[in-house]
Amino acid sequence: MPKNRKPAGKDHWFICTIEFVCPDCGGNSKEMLPTASTNADPHFVAAQIAKLDFSCQICKNPLAQRASPSLTVLSTTLEIIRTSGLQLPEVFDPPKYSN
Ligand SMILES: [Zn+2]
Repeated sequence: MPKNRKPAGKDHWFICTIEFVCPDCGGNSKEMLPTASTNADPHFVAAQIAKLDFSCQICKNPLAQRASPSLTVLSTTLEIIRTSGLQLPEVFDPPKYSN
């Protein structure tokens, strides 16, 4: 995704941190996921993120449904995400997972 592309209609940016102890390798998996949403409420975004499937960042095994990762959602700005070195989401948009 070109860095100067302006995401249309997504005014609110968040950095979601997903952490869990992997049931397979026992490692502490930590993933930082920048995301954009039309909804400004971090709790809403966290609820949508929680519906996604996660994989261990260490062994790459998918996390079983029974395991619930720790989610932290922080409001941020697109500029901060750009300067943090995190990859911008290409198609990810939490609202489309609602309902
Ligand atoms: Zn693992």
